[in-house]
Amino acid sequence: MKENYLLRPRGLSRFDLDPFFLIAEPRESPCVAESNRDAPEEYQKIFCRTLPGHRRAGKRLSNLDVIIPCDSVPDVIFTWMSECLVHDRVLQVFQDERFTGFSTRPAKARLKGSGATLSVRELLVTGWGGVAPEASGIREVERCVACGHLLLLSN
Ligand SMILES: [Zn+2]
Repeated sequence: MKENYLLRPRGLSRFDLDPFFLIAEPRESPCVAESNRDAPEEYQKIFCRTLPGHRRAGKRLSNLDVIIPCDSVPDVIFTWMSECLVHDRVLQVFQDERFTGFSTRPAKARLKGSGATLSVRELLVTGWGGVAPEASGIREVERCVACGHLLLLSN
């Protein structure tokens, strides 16, 4: 695979977690996928029965449909919304290495220049890292039991 993203083993024994890999977008990626404007995205609509200000978009209901602006496509493709697409060969590597904590979802991608389509899937992280320790500075500010609204801030 090309070295276009960060994949580092992380073992945080002080938090009593299993070792894991952090996959992140490169800091200055020249190839960020754009939404296909001909395929509008649909989102869940959340209405709070207690506080109208909690109205917001929820999960994306439609599959990703993106345009890739570069001809040299990285193995892991990020979108402007930090969604992550991977080629089938990357998924094969993940399966061969027995990675867990993710699922995939169908996605469409084509190159902006040639219009060629790519065989990709959206990568979805399924795990949860747990409650942030107090030392992290992250704290819960607001939680709504009616709609699930949750506001966290860092110091
Ligand atoms: Zn609410």
